[in-house]
Amino acid sequence: MKALLVNPWIYDFAAYNFWIRPLGLYKIAEWLWERDIQFSLVDALSPFKAPGKLQRTVVKRPEVLRAIPRQYSRYGISLDDFVQLIRKAGPFDVAFMTSSMSYWYPGVTEAVNIIKNINPDAFVILGGIYATLWPQHAQGKSGADLIVEGPFEGQASAICDMLGIPKEPVRTRKKWYELGLHDGLSYSGTRTAQGCPFNCTYCGSRKISGPFKPREPDKILNELLYLHKIGVQDIAFYDDALLVDFESRLKVVLDGLARHNVSFIFHTPNGLHARLIDSKVAYYLKKHKFKTIKLSLETTSPARQKATGAKVTNEAVKEAVTNLLKAGVTSESIGIYLLAGLPGQEAREVEESIRFVKSLGVRPYLSEFSPIPGTPEWHKLEKEGILSEDTDPLLTNNTVFFTLYSKITGEDWKYLNKIRLKA
Ligand code: SF4
Repeated sequence: MKALLVNPWIYDFAAYNFWIRPLGLYKIAEWLWERDIQFSLVDALSPFKAPGKLQRTVVKRPEVLRAIPRQYSRYGISLDDFVQLIRKAGPFDVAFMTSSMSYWYPGVTEAVNIIKNINPDAFVILGGIYATLWPQHAQGKSGADLIVEGPFEGQASAICDMLGIPKEPVRTRKKWYELGLHDGLSYSGTRTAQGCPFNCTYCGSRKISGPFKPREPDKILNELLYLHKIGVQDIAFYDDALLVDFESRLKVVLDGLARHNVSFIFHTPNGLHARLIDSKVAYYLKKHKFKTIKLSLETTSPARQKATGAKVTNEAVKEAVTNLLKAGVTSESIGIYLLAGLPGQEAREVEESIRFVKSLGVRPYLSEFSPIPGTPEWHKLEKEGILSEDTDPLLTNNTVFFTLYSKITGEDWKYLNKIRLKA
């Protein structure tokens, strides 16, 4: 039995490498290793510097996106390089492919197509975010033989039965970084927990990752120490809830690094919970060189904050920013995420949110809302007749959905970005 692990391309109007790493595939590599199954990894999004641009190839815009007059591209390595890597991996029996944003699915179908052309008998298993949120679409469109919804562990046993591989490990697990999977660039990603204890009405975390499940701090520390040894300097935390139980989780890891006299530059591209940044947490973030600190506010409307899950308040963000600045974090390191284009949201609400963030002396970042199947926000849009189970995931692309269905016009958007960037 030989396996191939594949991270496909991004297809979008824009994409940027904010320390992208296929952590889910790395876990499958560890799982295969402990069952003594040979594997190779083909990562279409490596090696590219981070933060930085990904290689881009303009491609034909799918028909369903004809109303968006912008260049549409494939991001990642070239098609030729991808084909060469698949050929170099040699014949394989099974391919495990991950997927990220649902509206990047053309990258998945392209990759499955190439794999099947080169190796027609290979059994392709597709997991990840797209497979979890759009299983029927993935079943019909991706070309994969099996769609895995939710965390891989939930279906590992059935996959063993299907492929005839041992259910129990036959040798001691090795971690992905010990298996030579790191591409040699000076950054990596890690996760201190799966999932999030909150449940916001626009978020797919629960469905994608399952319930909140922290990892043992010792294991995270060992991972970071190893990565440091092989030259990694920048670490991005992929967590949805990094600061939850700070004392017994992240603090233990950071103290451990200090004991070993090891440091990194840390980044939190996923927003942190402002309520959890007290003066001690702020001190730790400063001391341990957290350079990219993003907080999630989404909106300053108290009514909408409450209605969407009550994860944050304006006061909490104000206090978190004050604590960070007092601890010596520079204002350039702090960014606040705001959502634009939520169902029923007017430009005025976004403008007020931008002005609030700017009044704190830090930078607002606007994300266009993208609806996620199964969430309360999705159901609202379904009731309005905007979405249905036949909707093409391409239409949920943040740029597309925002342009076609939000209450915010192109002119509003220009104005909002102007005030966002104004000194
Ligand atoms: S706090 Fe963040 S990750 Fe958690 S449910 Fe809300 S939006 Fe999702």
